[in-house]
Amino acid sequence: MTSVKTQADTRHVVVIGAGTVGSSCAWNLKKAGFDVTVIDPELPGQTTSYGNAGIISTSHITPFSYPGVTSEIPGWLFDPTGPLFIRWLDFPGFIPWFWKFWRSGTSKHVNWSCRAQARLMHHAVSDFDEILADTNSSHMRKERGTITFYDSRAEFDKDAWKYDIKDELGFEWELLSPSELSIMVPGLDNKGGVAVYNPDWQFILDPGKTTAMIAQACFAAGGNWIQDRVTRVETSDQGVSLVTESGRQITADALVVAAGVWSNQIVRQLDYKVPLAPKRGYHSMIADAGIKLDYPVMSISRGFVMTPMNDGLRIAGAAEFAALDAEPNYDRAKILLRHAQEYLPGLRCNDVSEWLGQRPMMADSIPVISPSPSRTNVFYAFGHGHYGLTQGPTTGKIITAMVCGQEPAMDVSDYRFDRFR
Ligand SMILES: Cc1cc2nc3c(=O)[nH]c(=O)nc-3n(C[C@H](O)[C@H](O)[C@H](O)COP(=O)(O)OP(=O)(O)OC[C@H]3O[C@@H](n4cnc5c(N)ncnc54)[C@H](O)[C@@H]3O)c2cc1C
Repeated sequence: MTSVKTQADTRHVVVIGAGTVGSSCAWNLKKAGFDVTVIDPELPGQTTSYGNAGIISTSHITPFSYPGVTSEIPGWLFDPTGPLFIRWLDFPGFIPWFWKFWRSGTSKHVNWSCRAQARLMHHAVSDFDEILADTNSSHMRKERGTITFYDSRAEFDKDAWKYDIKDELGFEWELLSPSELSIMVPGLDNKGGVAVYNPDWQFILDPGKTTAMIAQACFAAGGNWIQDRVTRVETSDQGVSLVTESGRQITADALVVAAGVWSNQIVRQLDYKVPLAPKRGYHSMIADAGIKLDYPVMSISRGFVMTPMNDGLRIAGAAEFAALDAEPNYDRAKILLRHAQEYLPGLRCNDVSEWLGQRPMMADSIPVISPSPSRTNVFYAFGHGHYGLTQGPTTGKIITAMVCGQEPAMDVSDYRFDRFR
């Protein structure tokens, strides 16, 4: 007679996905004493987690849907150099997602969302401290804050409510005078607008490599690595069984799904699809920019960031809604470069590489960090949108507590998988 396995019997955990979120889950699970197997067709940290702007943006807590956003969207869409693009041929597939996005734009929901996001963000820095120290990668991070700026006072004033909420929930920010800004970022032409210093924000000098170092620390401690794509997943009282593209069969006691924007492909085999959409972004990486920034500088007006990294200056941003498998449109990356040249007139743009990434974006801007509603041995960690780097280490700790059957360090009810039903 076979007996039903309990949480206490869990020894072997499979993690699908080796981005920042999956690698952080894998490392924390390994540290807690589990046998861990990580599966991904790409090497760790080589997908969305490779090319992001590298910012640990701890006070970005307001959701993307809020009262009045629908009146701003047409202006963004009609500006060919604006921050938002939709591929209209692909648009019908996004209608259910946009419907839920729009419905989550009420004041009540914004209030809920800011608090849910803030709870994760308040843990981000200390969880980063821990994971970087544990994996010998603290040298990949700079702790000196980040500058955000607006082209005009009117645009800053429109965002005043976001700063009120930051104040209320305990996040620091400071207005910079023009002379302070010119000392911190010499050569920046901010068009006479408004600049803000975010002292708690940090940045990572190479997000892809840092993610790989976290995963490697897990493997060095005995974790297993399989480079393959999971195609089929089943569960029973005895555990989980997976089949991969190359025909491997893998069994384990528990499963963590951290497959970023592709998570629904696994999730729908176990529960049901959730409103998760690819919100694409691009970067242009300039190997030799001829300018050295001491701080990342983010233009809120044009929706992009310039981050000094180990391999050069990364210009990252844009929001494009297109099908998951649509071809990249690198004109978006070139537009980012043109914006950067406007703000940094001395910028050299030789030796540029371009990249596309797909942010795993939930319609309500809040990630899923949750047990499956129907399977005791399945856990979900995806949908971190613009903040997967920032929130990866915290997500790893929460998921590990869940797999252990312990209470996580914070209230996690807002990240529930079944909140859309
Ligand atoms: C332009 C841009 C700038 C950004 N800037 C920032 C920033 O400054 N700060 C910040 O915090 N965040 C930022 N982000 C967001 C951040 O990059 C993402 O939220 C984060 O990388 C998501 O991590 P992940 O581990 O969930 O997903 P991913 O890194 O995409 O990893 C998921 C992995 O799952 C694998 N996978 C998928 N399906 C399967 C399968 N069936 N079997 C096995 N493996 C599978 C994939 O191959 C992939 O490697 C930015 C994003 C973009 C695009």
